[in-house]
Amino acid sequence: MRKPIIAGNWKMFKLISDAVATATALKPLVANANHCEVVIAPPFTALKAVADRLEGSNIHVSAQDLAPEIKHGAHTGEVCGDMIKDAGCSHVIIGHSERRAMYGDTDAVVNRKIRAALHFGLTPIVCIGETLDERDAGNAEKVVATQLAQSLAELTASEVIRIVLAYEPVWAIGTGRTATPEQAQQMHAFIRQWIAQQFDATAASDLRILYGGSVKPENISDLMRAADIDGALVGGASLEAESFSRIVNYEW
Ligand code: PEP
Repeated sequence: MRKPIIAGNWKMFKLISDAVATATALKPLVANANHCEVVIAPPFTALKAVADRLEGSNIHVSAQDLAPEIKHGAHTGEVCGDMIKDAGCSHVIIGHSERRAMYGDTDAVVNRKIRAALHFGLTPIVCIGETLDERDAGNAEKVVATQLAQSLAELTASEVIRIVLAYEPVWAIGTGRTATPEQAQQMHAFIRQWIAQQFDATAASDLRILYGGSVKPENISDLMRAADIDGALVGGASLEAESFSRIVNYEW
C-alpha cells in the first residue's frame, strides 16, 4: 500500500515569523491526518524555526532545493544536503519547473541533486512535467519519459523506491487550470509503467507519484480517487493553514 503524501510548497513566500505562525496554525488542523504524510516546504531561512516548532508533530519539513555537491566547499549561495538535514528537514523538492525555467536546473543537474539528497538520507520529491506547447504538440509523454530517463539515470531500483515523483504539468502550475483527474491519471499510469520497464515491478508499485498544478480543497478528492495518484504537491493553496488543512483532510 502506498501511503499518500500531501506536500505544500511555500516557494519564495513568508518571513520567518509568518512561516512559524502558519506552521503553528496548521499543526492542530492536521493532527488526526493518519491517512497521509503531511509535508511543508518553507523557504530556507525559515526551515529551522519551522522544524523546531513542529518537532514531535506529524508534519514533515522539506527544503525546496539543495546543492548537487555532497562536500562542503566554495559554492557561494548553495546549501548542502546535510545542512538541510541539520535544520530539521526530512524531504527536499528537486527540479521544480520554476527552477528548471529560471535557474538552469537541467535533468543532469536534477540527477546530481537526487544523488546528493539520497546520500544524506533526505527524501527527494522530484518534479517532472510538460509545457502547454509540448502537450498541444502531442509530446507530453515523450517529454516526461525523457525527463525521467535523464533525471533517474544510473539510479538503482532500490534508490528509485526512496524517491517521490511529482507530475506537475507546467501549464497547471499557478494558473488555476488543473489537469482533469483523467488527464493526470493517464500520465501517472504512463510514469508507473515506464518505471516498471526501466527498473522493476516492485519499484513501480511502491513508487509514490504526486500530482501538482492548481490543487485546491475543491478538487483534491476527485484527484485522489484516481488509481495512480498518490498525493499532491500544492503551491498557492498551501500558503494558508486553513486551505492546506482542507486539502490534507480530503474526503476518501
Ligand atoms: C507548485 O508550485 O508546485 C504548484 C503546483 O503550484 P500551484 O498549486 O499554485 O499550482
